[in-house]
Amino acid sequence: MAIVLGKSKLTMNAKQARIGVLGFGGLGQAAACVLAPKSEMILVAAADKAGFAYANDGLAAKECIENYQARGSVGYFEPFGTLSNHSIEDLLDGNHQVDGYFLALPNLPNDFIPSVTKQFIQAGWRGVLVDAIKRTTAVEQLLAMGEELRAAGITYMTGCGATPGLLTAAAALAAQSYAEVHQVEITFGVGIANWEAYRATVREDIGHMPGYSVDVARAMTDAEVEALLDKTNGILKLENMEHADDVMLELAGICGRDRVTVGGIVDTRNPKKPLSTNVKVTGRTFEGKISTHTFTLGDETSMAANVCGPAFGYLKAGMQLHQRGIHGIFTAAEVMPKFVK
Ligand code: NAD
Repeated sequence: MAIVLGKSKLTMNAKQARIGVLGFGGLGQAAACVLAPKSEMILVAAADKAGFAYANDGLAAKECIENYQARGSVGYFEPFGTLSNHSIEDLLDGNHQVDGYFLALPNLPNDFIPSVTKQFIQAGWRGVLVDAIKRTTAVEQLLAMGEELRAAGITYMTGCGATPGLLTAAAALAAQSYAEVHQVEITFGVGIANWEAYRATVREDIGHMPGYSVDVARAMTDAEVEALLDKTNGILKLENMEHADDVMLELAGICGRDRVTVGGIVDTRNPKKPLSTNVKVTGRTFEGKISTHTFTLGDETSMAANVCGPAFGYLKAGMQLHQRGIHGIFTAAEVMPKFVK
C-alpha cells in the first residue's frame, strides 16, 4: 500500500475539514492513505477496537498504520494514542474538534453501526457521518433514525462505499435515459491478497452465503473462516445478496427494490479481480426502446479505492449540506458526491 505523506499535511490550514476514521482495519488504513495527500481534508482522529489516536495538528497515516500493524492498535501511537476498550466513547468524551467521521467499522452484529450512531447523538456531537454499510436491513435501521439525526444536528450519509455507493449512484444517473427502469443488476469482482486484511468484509460476505447468517459469520473463529476458504479455494460466490442498493434506489424513486439484484465473486487469495465490477441498468425509453446502460469499473481499481474515494466524496457533499443547516440522513443515490482535492 503506497503511503503518501506531504509535510504540509501536518500543518493546520483553516480551510481543511478535520476528519476521523473509526475502524482501522483494511478500509480504515486505506482511508488514512487516501486522505494523506489531500489538501481539503486532514486526518485528526483514528480509532480501533483497542484504542484511539487524536492529534490537533493531524495524524500521519504511516505512523498510525505502523502502530496498528506492529502492536495491534493506533492507541500505541505516542504521544497521541490512548488504549481503551471503549475507544469511540472515550474519543467522543474528549470533545475534540472533528468535523466528520468515516465509519469504517464492521457492521457485526447487524445493528452495530446504528448503535455507534446513537452514541454520537447521545454525546451531543454535531457534524457529518459517512458509512459504507452494506445490508438493506442495516440501512433501514439508520433511515428510521433520520428525525433523531436531524434534531441532533448531524448530517448522515449512508451506503456510500462501492456497492452500495458508487455503483448505486451510477445506476441513479443511468436511469435518467429511461421512462421506466426495468432492472438494475450489480455484479462485483473483488480480489484481495489475503482475507486477514479485510476480516469484517469477508465475514459479512460469508453471512450472505446459503446456510449462513450475519450472526453465524460473526461467531466463526478465524480458523473456521480459513477452513471454509480452504474448501472453496479462497473464492466466495455470492448471489441475490441482501444489499441496500435496493432500498436506496427505491427511496430515490428510481425503481422498486424487487428490480435490483446484487451478486459477485470475492477471491481472497489473489489481488487480481476475478471479474470486472459493473452495474447494468435496463429500461424503456420514452420512444418505447428497451436498452441497457453498463458502467464498468477499471480492473486496476481496488475495493479500497472504490470504497474510500466515494466515502470521502460523500463526506464532502455532507459537509456542504451541514454548512447550509441541512441535517438528517441521505443515501448515495440521492446526493452527488463532491471531489475531494
Ligand atoms: P476490518 O475487519 O479489516 O477492520 C475493522 C476495524 O474495526 C478494526 O480496526 C477493528 O479494530 C475495528 N473495530 C471493531 N470493533 C470496534 C469497536 N467496537 N470500536 C472501535 N473499532 C472497532 O474491516 P474491513 O474489512 O475494513 O471492513 C469495514 C466495513 O466496510 C465492513 O462493515 C464492510 O462491510 C464495509 N465494506 C463496505 C463496502 C462497500 O462497498 N459498501 C466494501 C467493503 C467493505
